[in-house]
Amino acid sequence: MTSTGHDHRPQAAGGDARTAELAGRLEVVRSRIEAAAAAAGRSDVPQLIVVTKFHPAADVRRLAALGVGDFGENRDQEAASKTAELADLEVRWHFIGQLQSNKAKSVAKYAASVQSIDRPQLVDALSKAVAREQDSTGRSDLDCFVQVSLEDDAGAHRGGAAPADVELLAARIESAIGLRLAGLMAVAPLGADPEAAFNKLAAISEALRVAHPAAAGISAGMSQDLEAAVKFGATHLRIGSDILGSRPAVG
Ligand SMILES: *Cc1c(COP(=O)(O)O)cnc(C)c1O
Repeated sequence: MTSTGHDHRPQAAGGDARTAELAGRLEVVRSRIEAAAAAAGRSDVPQLIVVTKFHPAADVRRLAALGVGDFGENRDQEAASKTAELADLEVRWHFIGQLQSNKAKSVAKYAASVQSIDRPQLVDALSKAVAREQDSTGRSDLDCFVQVSLEDDAGAHRGGAAPADVELLAARIESAIGLRLAGLMAVAPLGADPEAAFNKLAAISEALRVAHPAAAGISAGMSQDLEAAVKFGATHLRIGSDILGSRPAVG
């Protein structure tokens, strides 16, 4: 986002009904984030990433006009076509979904961060892809978040590496060309208390920062649990449905 110094009030951009709807929802979410930060006694406000998966490029354009500068997508095919269509926007794209190593080359073309790094082979594939992209376009280093699983039961799965494997992945990212170790990402386990989950994540982050002090990012918190995430130190929030409305069911 280029900062123009203009204020980004909802009424300032766009004229259609969808823009007004998005502006209203965005305002509510921003207020929730500010209230949660104040309640937690934080002087910083976490970074909002608006997750636009399943929603059209036109909505990204509306949100960008409303002052949103960071967007999240979880499938390469959808993200690649949206980012190509929106190449004129000065916004950052964050990849937050499960990623196959053979998609690293595509993701390296548009992503500012990959938040779902869960295995060594993916680190190697991203490093190679970003290094090639840097040679041809001079792109900046890719911010990398290790996705950590907060499940107690290793069987239940919302993705991510086991906490015991975080240090190994972090060290591999830190020594890889083209990659910058940014921190951790997690999704609260379904049906569990999000505060307990994000408290656990905060402890894993603290342990990580002993050896990697710059890896201070904590990407946690979605529409349903952003308050809990802010309370336990989230630096990045990934909010989809509370801003864009419900997504079409996945067939
Ligand atoms: C879809 C998604 C989100 C956004 O979830 P909402 O509940 O729609 O806010 C956040 N993080 C990840 C990893 C996602 O896949």
